[in-house]
Amino acid sequence: MTRRGADQVLEKLKRGNVRFVERAKADAARRAGLARGQQPLAVVLACADSRVAPEIVFGADLGELFVVRVAGNVANTSSIASIEYAVANLGVRLVIVMAHESCGAVAAVLEGGDSGSNLNHLLEHIAPALGAPAESDADAVARRGARLNAERLISESEILRKACAEDGLRIATAFYRFTTGAVEFD
Ligand SMILES: [Zn+2]
Repeated sequence: MTRRGADQVLEKLKRGNVRFVERAKADAARRAGLARGQQPLAVVLACADSRVAPEIVFGADLGELFVVRVAGNVANTSSIASIEYAVANLGVRLVIVMAHESCGAVAAVLEGGDSGSNLNHLLEHIAPALGAPAESDADAVARRGARLNAERLISESEILRKACAEDGLRIATAFYRFTTGAVEFD
């Protein structure tokens, strides 16, 4: 893959949106529906990695998935708040925490060292997934991280805890493989 300059990339993306707008014209009624509001089927908490893209992986259309993406698919204050909104205000009853193969954020935790204060903060959310004794396989850490982040959604959010106990909310964990495209649910 060749690395392109910012101006070239911006032009490419603008051309992509022109094509998107053209296709959208054939679908005006649905567009109008989307403008009125959303009723997503599920939340996906996924990594920001460019290879992940939950809508593509699950064959979902606009309005179907409420996707929260942050490197390492961590449950932090902002990602939890976004999920709370989808559950409390949009009626979502399924949350999927989806880790993935060859995660750069997990690799950074395994390497250790100082990544600067912002990134260090993020990596601190992943570090508990190393376990004791420390696991050295990145994919195993990523899988464990998904489960720990799912637990954190419950332990750190009264809204999600209550929705699980009283309102049928399910929090599932999964691992996505680039090599096959398969999402493996726990
Ligand atoms: Zn990742």
